Amino acid sequence: MAFRCRRRDRRQVRAAFQRPADAHADTGLTHRPRSIPAHETHAARNTGAARRLGGRAAGTADAAAIAPGPVDDALRPGAPTTPPELALLDALVSAARPYAQVTTFTGAGPREGSEGLPVHAIALGNPAPHLPGLGIFGGVHGLERIGTRVVLAFLQGLVSRLPWDETLRLQLQRMRLVFMPLVNPGGLVLGTRANPRGVDLMRNAPLDASEPVPFLVGGQRLGPGLPWYRGRAGEPLQPESQALCDTVERELSGRPVSLALDCHSGFGQRDRLWFPFAGRRAPFTHAAQLHALNEIFERSHAHHPYVVEPQSRHYLAHGDLWDHLALRAPPGHVFLPFTLEMGSWLWVKKNPRQLFSRHGIFNPVISHRETRVLRRHLPLLDFLMRATVAAAEWLPRDPLELERHRRAAHARWYAA
Ligand SMILES: [Zn+2]
Repeated sequence: MAFRCRRRDRRQVRAAFQRPADAHADTGLTHRPRSIPAHETHAARNTGAARRLGGRAAGTADAAAIAPGPVDDALRPGAPTTPPELALLDALVSAARPYAQVTTFTGAGPREGSEGLPVHAIALGNPAPHLPGLGIFGGVHGLERIGTRVVLAFLQGLVSRLPWDETLRLQLQRMRLVFMPLVNPGGLVLGTRANPRGVDLMRNAPLDASEPVPFLVGGQRLGPGLPWYRGRAGEPLQPESQALCDTVERELSGRPVSLALDCHSGFGQRDRLWFPFAGRRAPFTHAAQLHALNEIFERSHAHHPYVVEPQSRHYLAHGDLWDHLALRAPPGHVFLPFTLEMGSWLWVKKNPRQLFSRHGIFNPVISHRETRVLRRHLPLLDFLMRATVAAAEWLPRDPLELERHRRAAHARWYAA
């Protein structure tokens, strides 16, 4: 494939690679994250990161002043060994604590025998089980740092608005909202898709596709030395997968309706919103409700950039966690999980040097392009919050209306 490398892009590439290590004026980063010593406990790390980053104690950290800086800075020789996403997440957890219930699970440590890494779930809003819920997830694949960054940017905006935004507080009184910005911290530290044990969390659920899957990419049990490893048959879920499932089942599954968005990158040139199933071509259980949601999305965001479709249109895979959770959802619970696949080939096309970087294939590495990516997706997250609060307004309940949406969904997504 040939790429055009325009002069402006070349200048930007040069600027990005030549920028001095401490030049962060364009990112708004006033306190550069520093490495956090390994001997600090997790609690101390929270406090320490917040103090260093925001200059304040935990719980009052001015998280809004912290930005992780572009991915290429984090990869530069001499950059902090603690990824900036972990430091920002710690600071946001501290800042959100007065308003949130935080559960911290433990993910696999980056090396054999090393201490586990925290996997945070941050729940905001009203816990009453009759209210609708929304879950926002990122960092399931450690290499896809932009997914975590999108979730962190949205969370950062919310946390900074909580003290003064009355409309936001009213929204949160009518819904539950849970964030897991970094499901696989060990993978992010190592720069791998899989977790530190070599397991691809999105192939880790205990269910097989209904038809043959593509070799390797559909999930394999040959071993962790090859990509898309599912883990051994019959073994418990990996700790990060279990943390995700526990969070969904505790915060979302007991409600009449819940939505989820899991942010990834790396597939093709378009931004895609995939929904189950990944492991079978049969129509999704709640295709009618999903069509109703898509209808209000298209009407209210006429120029949105997404292709909305079932994942099975592209390839089948074993062990998809969202298939697993959708199939386990209690009867009567409407669960609509989406996977956002940001089309990273858009960024590679504009900056072919990224092809030579493992991170570059999955992330926009230049500051201004990352800013554009963050801006592009935040309206989707805002829409999902509004749609969750107002679920009773658009969910079809009348049998005729349900049938209309079911037929439309089948014609749009499942016609031969
Ligand atoms: Zn991914």
